[in-house]
Amino acid sequence: MIQEAQLTIDLNSLAHNYTCLRSKLKEDTALIAVVKANAYGADGARIAQELAKLGTKHFAVAYTAEAVVLREANIKEDIMVFYPQLGQLERIIEYQLEPVLYTLEIIKAFLLLLKQKNLKDYPVHIKCNTGLNRIGLSQEDLIFFLKEMDTTSMNIKSIYSHLGASENPKPCLFTQQQINAFEIVKQTVKEYCPILPKFHLLNSSGVFNYPEHQLDAVRVGIALYGFANQAEWDLELRPIAKLSAPICQIHRVKKGENVGYNQGWKATQDSRIGIIPIGHADGIGRQYGHGVGNVQIVGQTAPIIGNVCMDMLMIDLGSIRCDVGTEVILFDKNTTAADFAATGNTISYEILAGLNYRIQRVYQ
Ligand SMILES: *Cc1c(COP(=O)(O)O)cnc(C)c1O
Repeated sequence: MIQEAQLTIDLNSLAHNYTCLRSKLKEDTALIAVVKANAYGADGARIAQELAKLGTKHFAVAYTAEAVVLREANIKEDIMVFYPQLGQLERIIEYQLEPVLYTLEIIKAFLLLLKQKNLKDYPVHIKCNTGLNRIGLSQEDLIFFLKEMDTTSMNIKSIYSHLGASENPKPCLFTQQQINAFEIVKQTVKEYCPILPKFHLLNSSGVFNYPEHQLDAVRVGIALYGFANQAEWDLELRPIAKLSAPICQIHRVKKGENVGYNQGWKATQDSRIGIIPIGHADGIGRQYGHGVGNVQIVGQTAPIIGNVCMDMLMIDLGSIRCDVGTEVILFDKNTTAADFAATGNTISYEILAGLNYRIQRVYQ
């Protein structure tokens, strides 16, 4: 019986997704497994261990602290840090992490650090901006970097960029412009670098939409966890996560009575209300409630009513046969995290990444 809010992770589905992605790649295209945000809620260290067993050689996280957690969990593979901050560069070296350098300032600071520590051939990656205009070197900065800076203390392992609309239907002018801009990046690098780094561009949806641009590596996150941002691509994958919780109390309320904070819901008839021990602090946002968002109980659907609370939410049980202790499913393989997200007007990424530490993780 389920004891409390629980995220059940299906490791066979993780393996299925990994194999599915690998099958879309040429043998010499590397798969960089993105395990940031606690592996999209599933637990970074545990998922990295599983992916390492499946053959993953390269991991990526967003921030340095996430990579430190992986190292402390004994992950020995390469760990790329997408967005290291200036103040974290010492830690990057201390934990033998591979920073992505994305501004001239951060490159200068890192070069200085390597010099002070007398380090040679330190593995780094360079991020170029090709139109997303989030982070990355401009074409001008890239040329300055390659032409003017002494990079002998670095091993530039890869130079990459990131697509801003890889899931949009083709032809997509914006994506094509990014692909063209990255082609110019590659030409520039070829002009100045005697030893060529690897090049990469694609995230999960990119692997499905633009496999011809897989280049030397792809950086896949969400697809490992079962989603690719288009219904037809999702069919090839299996959502790994099921979020469920037990009913912890049932109330019978009379017509006209209220439920929850600020009288968020008023019974229009005598009703049975189920209390579920999961709320904002677990990652269930304010947009749910008032009939937005459903849960599944013994194969039937019940709406989330009133205001979601910090630790709890309420559902209208109608005439569903259930009891205290009955499992309530927020999402699983059938009603997926993408479906649950869509009812709340958001995307699977937000729901999965927002699942908090308090939810028990169970692996099977
Ligand atoms: C998060 C991230 C990815 C992974 O994206 P998915 O859509 O989850 O596959 C790839 N590259 C960068 C730079 C990222 O920040």
